[in-house]
This record gives sequence, C-alpha cells and structure tokens, in this order.
Amino acid sequence: MFTCKDHVKKGLDFSIFPHIKKVTYAETFCHFCKEKAKYKLFQSSTMRAAR
Ligand SMILES: [Zn+2]
Repeated sequence: MFTCKDHVKKGLDFSIFPHIKKVTYAETFCHFCKEKAKYKLFQSSTMRAAR
C-alpha cells in the first residue's frame, strides 16, 4: 500500500502494515486521496511462520 505524507498515519491505523519506507516513485499514488505517494507501507518479509 502506498500513501502520501498526510495519510501515512491513517494507513497505519487502517491496515496491518507495520513497516514504512519512504519512496520517490513518480507514478505511485496515495491509497486514500490519489495524491502522489511518499511512503510505502508493507508487511515484513520475515514474518513467515516457522511451522
Ligand atoms: Zn493521501
């Protein structure tokens, strides 16, 4: 999920994405307002269960 700087907190409340990375992709847009995205919210790739 991508968000702009105004919606990064909303993204955290809204979702289960515990990690944030700042991005500068030119053609990526906020999930909430369709403004240009500044952040990427994602799940950890290390959350894999051992069993
Ligand atoms: Zn936004």
